[in-house]
Amino acid sequence: MWRRVSSLTQFVSPTKSSSILNQPAYTLKIWESFTTQLPNLEKGGISFKDRIPFITFVLGGPGSGKGTQCEKIVETFGFKHLSAGDLLRQEIASESEYGSMILNTIKDGRIVPSEVTIKLIQKEMESSDNKKFLIDGFPRCEENRVAFEQIIGAEPNIVLFFDCPAEEMVKRVLNRNQGRVDDNMDTIKKRLEVFEELNLPVVNYYAEKGKLHKICALGTEDEIFEQVWPVFAACKQLIQ
Ligand code: UDP
Ligand code: MG
Repeated sequence: MWRRVSSLTQFVSPTKSSSILNQPAYTLKIWESFTTQLPNLEKGGISFKDRIPFITFVLGGPGSGKGTQCEKIVETFGFKHLSAGDLLRQEIASESEYGSMILNTIKDGRIVPSEVTIKLIQKEMESSDNKKFLIDGFPRCEENRVAFEQIIGAEPNIVLFFDCPAEEMVKRVLNRNQGRVDDNMDTIKKRLEVFEELNLPVVNYYAEKGKLHKICALGTEDEIFEQVWPVFAACKQLIQ
């Protein structure tokens, strides 16, 4: 059934721009400005009000179908869907302090500083009555992953990875017509570079930990969900 691992080579330029891929230094200042506002930082975790959370990270390149499959998982298994990209876009729309920085970062196909994204995810997790979370499009780099563990004080129970050939992802993104500032060929190329260089190491990390469930993201929505369903069905005890 398994076809092949995404081949990004034709979309990723041989000389990678360090300004795109060199992210961590950029996060330090933001971290300082957020430390006083992160309520549970000292405790190293957030309160789930006596609930044991079940956390799923949903990873995959741009256009690999993460959001579409998340909707199906929500319908079937009752998860709370937190799309990191959507939370960031809402933040831009609300014209918050960090809105223009987030907009410029997304336009460039780079990764928003961990603390900003995690703060938005944390707010949603804390205010939800649900204990089952689908965190879609995050973590996008090792630094995101480590920061999440430190700030939220939890690791994902499982990680889904939607594996899709680059040419298919490009086709889907260019055809989806959602009016997104980053759905153009220039930004897609950068997003694919960032995906390969920074996101795939996170995928590999969870594969080594035995938490990764690789899904072949080619086919109809229902065909893909046929691979997703058994992953959650096998966790029935924890998610009912
Ligand atoms: N993004 C980010 N951190 C995240 C999630 C998203 O910085 O945790 C930014 C990043 O610039 C990315 C963009 O938001 O390219 C869009 O992300 P989304 O997951 O919505 O789209 P995808 O690239 O998966 O189609
Ligand atoms: Mg999405």
